[in-house]
Amino acid sequence: VFAPLAGVGVIIVDEESSGAYRTYRRPFLNVRTVAARKAVLEGARLTLSGRLPSSRVYIRSAPRCGCRPPRDTVMFVDLKQGFSPEYRGLTDTLRLSAPLFRETARTVSEGRVALWLLDRKGYAGEAACEDCGSPVLCPACGRIMAWRDEKGVLQCVACGKTRPLPEVCPVCRGALLKGRRPGLEALYPVARASLPENKPLFIWDGSKSWGKKEYQTVIKDLEGGGLVLGTRSSLALCDRADVGFAAWIDADSEVRNVAFQAKFTAFSMVWESIWRGSGRGGRVVLLQSRRPGSGWQKGLVAGWDRFWEDELRERKELGLPPYSFLVEITSSSGAVKDSIMAKLEASRLAVMDPGDPPGTVWVEARSPARVGKILDPYFSIKNSRAGFPGITVWID
Ligand SMILES: [Zn+2]
Ligand SMILES: [Zn+2]
Repeated sequence: VFAPLAGVGVIIVDEESSGAYRTYRRPFLNVRTVAARKAVLEGARLTLSGRLPSSRVYIRSAPRCGCRPPRDTVMFVDLKQGFSPEYRGLTDTLRLSAPLFRETARTVSEGRVALWLLDRKGYAGEAACEDCGSPVLCPACGRIMAWRDEKGVLQCVACGKTRPLPEVCPVCRGALLKGRRPGLEALYPVARASLPENKPLFIWDGSKSWGKKEYQTVIKDLEGGGLVLGTRSSLALCDRADVGFAAWIDADSEVRNVAFQAKFTAFSMVWESIWRGSGRGGRVVLLQSRRPGSGWQKGLVAGWDRFWEDELRERKELGLPPYSFLVEITSSSGAVKDSIMAKLEASRLAVMDPGDPPGTVWVEARSPARVGKILDPYFSIKNSRAGFPGITVWID
């Protein structure tokens, strides 16, 4: 959009709802906004496209969803009907259902690819003490450490540092450390046992950097049918392989994130899994959930206009973007965070503590200027040594 072109007739912004158009360093801008402004200045036509519109485009021009998935494409399975396989060393379970295995077997026997999606790589989301409940934290930065593989290597989710699973709890010296929130590696043995021996099984979690050659080998191996366990990045497989079945193993976990856009992100991903590269023939998409087919999942059958209607009504009630500003404040220390929270609450602003990352506070405001006034003292030159808070304003 910054190219010095003359006589631009049309500007097309593809995937306009994508966060990729926002810059994450100075100057902060959204390329979509620049493109729109340029279209006005040049008298050019602006086309915004994508798998579904952003909230702003939906509010402004109320587009209707013209393509609903064919009947029987989307299956909802109640997780309460599922069963829990044994996951070694883990306390939490990840329930699996009969339809999941049935559809996987059918797809693979037809020589097509089945995809199990779970956005949690490694063996478990964290390792924690059975006695005192403390999770094992990173010795370098203090964040949660994920359990990377069955051998018991832990890896920090923030800085990537690794360490072996400790013999005893670093907090209470208790001897029983167990994994929580099973990941893709934990699913591997169950998945392997359910497949015929001659069918391949891969884990695709973005941690192995497959070169072009390895990538081609995997695609080739999958030609006669197979199963892939992957994070959301594995949806790229739909461009190259004949994915006949995609299953969201724990659809609810995709919205457990506290971010206000969590439901949009989840909906957008599942919607993508229905359509991406599905031209070769029907694909069945299955969601395992505790509230199957309700809430944000309704739009998967009824269309994205239904999703936005429900979602925007809720955001309006809660005063979330795009109806207000969400100011994210990152403090340099716990004491600064507590003091900021107290000041904001005293001014009757709606303050939220997302819990992770630790120094972060969210506050909703009709006008960010009001929050700015309250934060003013923290930007005094006296605080330069302790560090100033970081501010991000979310407007969706
Ligand atoms: Zn302990
Ligand atoms: Zn770390």
